[in-house]
Amino acid sequence: MIIQQSCKDDSDPTSLSCEEAVVRILESMSSLTQTEMMPIRDSLGRVTSSDVVAAANVPPHKNSAMDGYAFRQGELQGLNNPVIKIIGTAFAGKAFTRPIEKNEAVRIMTGAVVPENADTIVIQEHVKAGGNDLQILEMPNFGENIRAAGEDIRVGETILKSGHTVTPADLGLIASLGIAEVQVFQKPRVAYFSTGDELKSLGTTLEPGEIYDSNRYTLYGMLQHLGVEIIDMGVVKDTYDAIEAALLDASKSADMVITSGGVSVGDADFIKEALANVGQVKFWKIAMKPGRPLAFGKIGKAHFFGLPGNPVSVMVGFHQFVTPALQKISGAKTNRNIILEASVTEPLKKRPGRAEYQRGILAQEDDGSLTVQPTGDQGSGILKSMSEANCFIYLPIDASDIHVNKAVRVIPFNSAI
Ligand code: AMP
Ligand code: MG
Repeated sequence: MIIQQSCKDDSDPTSLSCEEAVVRILESMSSLTQTEMMPIRDSLGRVTSSDVVAAANVPPHKNSAMDGYAFRQGELQGLNNPVIKIIGTAFAGKAFTRPIEKNEAVRIMTGAVVPENADTIVIQEHVKAGGNDLQILEMPNFGENIRAAGEDIRVGETILKSGHTVTPADLGLIASLGIAEVQVFQKPRVAYFSTGDELKSLGTTLEPGEIYDSNRYTLYGMLQHLGVEIIDMGVVKDTYDAIEAALLDASKSADMVITSGGVSVGDADFIKEALANVGQVKFWKIAMKPGRPLAFGKIGKAHFFGLPGNPVSVMVGFHQFVTPALQKISGAKTNRNIILEASVTEPLKKRPGRAEYQRGILAQEDDGSLTVQPTGDQGSGILKSMSEANCFIYLPIDASDIHVNKAVRVIPFNSAI
């Protein structure tokens, strides 16, 4: 007798654990090798494919951190409110070029090159200036208010390692070195389509039994956040031939193919069969909820993820498996989930056998402690539960019902969701 596994049974020895699934996914991929040079603005969010090394010091010269007066503190130590002579002014971008002597001072603006022989800047609030005379009312420490050449970046220093995702701070850092272009990995191309006879695209009216395709929009958003090249292939009908043709077509132009729906064991679920025929199924069941049926494999050179059809399952599967996979293909370091502990404000229902990713709202109370409130109905079709949430409540495989106020693990959503 063949026992059909249904989503109602929680233990299933043929399912992989989430951790095993991630390991197997990452093992089977490597980063793309093609690279391109990008003007630095366009490199935002891209992954560097070589180290960026400083060819110069930043700042290139010793300069003033404040508006004030540059002078030789070393020679005035022990004197009470000494009076010295102002001999000129140094502006940012317009240096005072003569070296200064003992008992001389130069008016200096923030960012201006410190004149030769000056060792300290006294801020303008701590002096009394009258004509060319400058009285120091409060003696600064030796070296105070001077920024050393190279204090931000030293010549020869590696400022960005290969495999780094470029942030706004990095753009400024690269620009401060005068570098106009950086080398980055090419973006992975990701093709995706929805499967289902019931699905309609936006702009059409629904007949009885039809629903709007929402997964393609969720997927679009998550892919967009990851900065990949997106190929939207629309909705594909629930026939074996249509699905096989779409898979082959998608795999020709993409590094990764993602589908939603048609991956469980119903009569119209053809994804797994078509994948086995045109490519390779590596695994298709994960001990998790939502999202147990999740086909992973390959078609030609393209990696394949067959996500379930339920809208929440799509997002959970994407967050846990597709995101690290795309980071690896992009040449980036894969970020591990950040896991926090929070006390749950309501009891949670849970059967042992599958890891659950319930949706919650993580908050910090006045006393600094973290609490998490589940976002209502946790059904895999309740997309509102994701929209309201800012974290997953992660309940491990063996966990059962959770009492109110118990500490649970939460995974805050990163920017990819
Ligand atoms: P399936 O995995 O194809 O059996 O679909 C499971 C459930 O998800 C069904 O209720 C589908 O109608 C729904 N579903 C599948 N694809 C989508 C989609 N693209 N947008 C919204 N709901 C979907
Ligand atoms: Mg379907």
